[in-house]
Amino acid sequence: MAQKPELVGRSIPQAAQLPAVSGLGLDSDKARFHLIDALAQHFQLDSSLVEVMRAVPRHRFVEPAFVSRAYEDMALPIGHQQTISKPSTVARMLDRILKHHHGQDRKYLKILEIGTGCGYQAALLSRLFGEVFSIERIKDLHLLAKKNLRGMQCFNLRMLFADGLKGLAQAAPFDAIIAAAAGDSIPEAWTQQLKPGGILLTPVTSANGQVLEQVIYLGHGNFQHLQLDAVRFVPLLQGTR
Ligand code: SAH
Repeated sequence: MAQKPELVGRSIPQAAQLPAVSGLGLDSDKARFHLIDALAQHFQLDSSLVEVMRAVPRHRFVEPAFVSRAYEDMALPIGHQQTISKPSTVARMLDRILKHHHGQDRKYLKILEIGTGCGYQAALLSRLFGEVFSIERIKDLHLLAKKNLRGMQCFNLRMLFADGLKGLAQAAPFDAIIAAAAGDSIPEAWTQQLKPGGILLTPVTSANGQVLEQVIYLGHGNFQHLQLDAVRFVPLLQGTR
């Protein structure tokens, strides 16, 4: 029984409300802490999320030409017409998963990410949860993510080159599924691969633009749907290349 979606949530802050960053290089830690601390305060982020976002160097995941903008709150190109998601969007999606599973031991939670891209969010997920699977449909990006994550000790992260529309039946069910690409509807495979009590977060494209949608599996075939904020993600596409 799907409930009527309800619009909730705070809007994403305008760039002007967040700190401007310049002069990276040796200053990159400082620039990163500045951005993450502003996001933490603005969105009242979970403290473990703040800790991992402070630790993971986002500038190592962006193209060299954009390194100086890595600590502005914006999506940036990663090649193949794809982007690394905006830090505030990543933060709020991960925060929602953490708060949903509040009180549970994170090391026992199994997460599926659709759209590895450059691997930034996968790095955060692997530091936050027990077991993480991440699927990417573009071979070059799958390889780029592997390269970016080399030496980052993400031993609990499995990256797969595949079409994420089908989810990952062999590792299901999941405590959370998080998609970084927007389709016109939510693939049934994803909702079917949630554990009872599991949460799915995905952007969905409609006539009015993209909205972040949350689905919670209540068990016994019942789902609770909620529409959150307007967002902007790259399209969810079929097949691999
Ligand atoms: N998680 C990334 C965001 C990557 S952008 C980050 O940390 O910033 C979204 C990614 O989804 C793109 O790399 C795109 O190729 C991928 N994608 C789109 N459709 C997909 C599909 N069906 N299966 C797997 N990945 C897909």
